[in-house]
Amino acid sequence: MALVKPGILFQKAYQEGYALGAFNVFNLESVQAVLRAAQMERSAVIVQVSMGARKYVGDLDIFLRLLKMMAEPLEVPVCIHHDHCTDFEICKQSIDAGFSSIMIDGSKLTFKENIRLVRKVADYAHEKGVWVEAELGSLPGFEDDFFSEDNQYTNPDDVGEFVRESTCDSLAVAVGTSHGGVKADQDLKIDMERLQKISNNLPGFPLVLHGGASITSSYIDTINHYGGKVEYMKNVPEPLIRETVKLGVCKVNMDVDNFNAYTAAIRRYMTENPAIYDPRKYTAVGRDAFMNEVRHKMSEVILSSGRYKASDYAKDLGKSIRTVDHD
Ligand SMILES: [Zn+2]
Repeated sequence: MALVKPGILFQKAYQEGYALGAFNVFNLESVQAVLRAAQMERSAVIVQVSMGARKYVGDLDIFLRLLKMMAEPLEVPVCIHHDHCTDFEICKQSIDAGFSSIMIDGSKLTFKENIRLVRKVADYAHEKGVWVEAELGSLPGFEDDFFSEDNQYTNPDDVGEFVRESTCDSLAVAVGTSHGGVKADQDLKIDMERLQKISNNLPGFPLVLHGGASITSSYIDTINHYGGKVEYMKNVPEPLIRETVKLGVCKVNMDVDNFNAYTAAIRRYMTENPAIYDPRKYTAVGRDAFMNEVRHKMSEVILSSGRYKASDYAKDLGKSIRTVDHD
């Protein structure tokens, strides 16, 4: 049941005022963590592959097949998305491989070049029924191994023309978040006024927030207490991320908190259980910490928990429903 067209997920999220969590996966345990969290929270979810994950898994086709096989038996709806495709060729490969949603990142290009690239990708993707996310403006922080200080907020006056000309299906905006956090004394803030204007200029249109992890310091405390040396970074705190879902944000990318939860749990377990050498023991502890963090985001930050109703997806699936709504 679980793989559904992205359009219906975004439409429901927009109408009901919550956001879909998009979580990066890169191995079996991370996929289990995200899918189990979605199932337990009765939440729709976007499972996301980054360029870094693509390199890590080696064979994208096999990994995508694994994702589909693991998602299909679930009750809750799942969408499989390729994040930050860097050019047309990567988009084409991802679409041909079977992703139902992709992001083309033309944010480093000029306004007109960005439109041209997204339009080219969208023409190809829409032929095959694939959803296209674009980005306007750019975020500071890490993209895979590359750190960028470039921080260019999205101009609300540009978004109407951009969406119309590029024909993208959703738009990632730069309104204050950062990829992986920045070194700063204070937490970062969302420019709510700017986000409100963007949303007003694109009525009914789904917006996307990248860099939605809040870099919760308690995980870094644990990592460093158990021998780590992870630097404290600042990003936008969770209550402010939660505010954005009322302003047209329908997808929030959140990774670093999951990674920190995973690492903190494994460091702690290995320190407290120094005789353990079976990787299944400590990897399971990391996976469960990852899962719990995803559950927390769903229930407390993006408010997608408990929103799944089988009847909402009956038409999209084109078949009768066996499952019964719990609410
Ligand atoms: Zn991003």
